[in-house]
Amino acid sequence: MHVMVLGAGVTGVTTAWYLVNAGFDVSVVERRPAAGLETTFANGGQISISHPEPWSSPSAPLEALRALGRADAPLRWRLSRDPAQWRWLLAFLRECLPQRHRRNAHAIASLAAYSGQCLHALRDETGIAYEQQLRGILHLFRTGREQARAHGKAEFLAAHGIRGRLCSADECLAIEPALARHRLQLAGGFYAPDDESGNALLFTQALAERCRAAGVRFYHDTTIRRLIADGGLIEGIEVADGTGRAGRLAAGAYVVCLGSHGAPLLAPLGLRLPVYPLKGYSVTAPLIDAEAAPVVSLTDESRRIVCSRLGSALRVAGTAELNGFDTSVAPERCAPLSRWLADMFPGVADTTHAQLWAGLRPATPGNVPLIGKGRGVNLWLNTGHGSLGWTLACGSASSLAALMSGRAPPVSGFPFLRPPR
Ligand SMILES: Cc1cc2nc3c(=O)[nH]c(=O)nc-3n(C[C@H](O)[C@H](O)[C@H](O)COP(=O)(O)OP(=O)(O)OC[C@H]3O[C@@H](n4cnc5c(N)ncnc54)[C@H](O)[C@@H]3O)c2cc1C
Repeated sequence: MHVMVLGAGVTGVTTAWYLVNAGFDVSVVERRPAAGLETTFANGGQISISHPEPWSSPSAPLEALRALGRADAPLRWRLSRDPAQWRWLLAFLRECLPQRHRRNAHAIASLAAYSGQCLHALRDETGIAYEQQLRGILHLFRTGREQARAHGKAEFLAAHGIRGRLCSADECLAIEPALARHRLQLAGGFYAPDDESGNALLFTQALAERCRAAGVRFYHDTTIRRLIADGGLIEGIEVADGTGRAGRLAAGAYVVCLGSHGAPLLAPLGLRLPVYPLKGYSVTAPLIDAEAAPVVSLTDESRRIVCSRLGSALRVAGTAELNGFDTSVAPERCAPLSRWLADMFPGVADTTHAQLWAGLRPATPGNVPLIGKGRGVNLWLNTGHGSLGWTLACGSASSLAALMSGRAPPVSGFPFLRPPR
């Protein structure tokens, strides 16, 4: 069967890869001239299997209220009249209930653990390189309260086969000696040795090349204007090329991997995807002193900032803004990231020549992606990966390929969208 994957971010390209390997004839449609140029472009780089807890947590509403009016707050919201934003916000509040938070964390953890295995297998099979660092992720706690919140985390992760342990401040410095440059008051940390980091853009573009070699056709500079449906059947997509010339493409089945832009495109079909953009920022600064730069990926829990070594640069990412589809880069939102880098690793990276970037996390209210059968006969979904799209990409795509092949999904405990029996 011919399957058309809509969107060539990390989700769309991994979907194409697992589908072509499952024997499907695959095309990918993408408005940009190359793969990975939107949210995948400059994300935090973490393969964060050990951090399945969604942002919709019992403490999130209070944190959001505290952030009101602070320009440098990690969380920010600018309420609009868009009903989709209000629907999403209400659903987000519902997902903050303790039992929903727990359920979502379990679902994400089971998919994340499987996704890690898929990434290893894919890397072994293809040999692709993407500035990966296989040295784990170290979560830093600045207060005893933060550390206390992590009690029980190791047991929770172990139930999903994920390794991680609490560690003292001294152990943190032993795991990442570059931290010693800063007179950081650390209460302790949590180290997950099997986590990784890497450049999602390089990965996506290298995998797109492998897809091409395996027979996948890429339609770049091709914007999808609408899906053409007859009852429950998608008959094709109306597209425009780079010059604005309209055309039509058709296949036997369609997979939506359009990041935050899937929801508005599916709305005219009566399908309300609970996916809304959560804007984030990153700062990528070239190294001045490579020897003194960290190689272990870091998560600063109190600042909600992550840091990854990507080749000859350090990338720092964070912040979450509910601000519609705006992707402009606000310097005042990048400033706390640059400051963090200069403060944590003084003299190590050149923040004056850093690349500043903003992207839209395609977030569901509970951060649990939508994977499986969409409404109708031939519409499938692999979208809504929010803050963990790079971490979950391989496992999500492999699971979708299994579902589309009529096989049982390889992950138990995840709420895949199944076709009605
Ligand atoms: C600041 C920040 C830091 C992050 N850090 C991490 C991290 O450390 N680890 C992690 O796991 N995740 C992280 N994420 C999340 C991760 O980057 C995303 O979840 C992931 O990139 C989503 O991939 P995607 O393929 O679904 O979306 P995208 O990469 O946005 O891909 C969607 C594609 O669809 C195309 N498209 C959209 N509309 C149309 C149309 N009408 N016609 C044709 N093409 C269209 C777009 O051009 C785009 O290429 C971070 C995100 C941000 C913003």
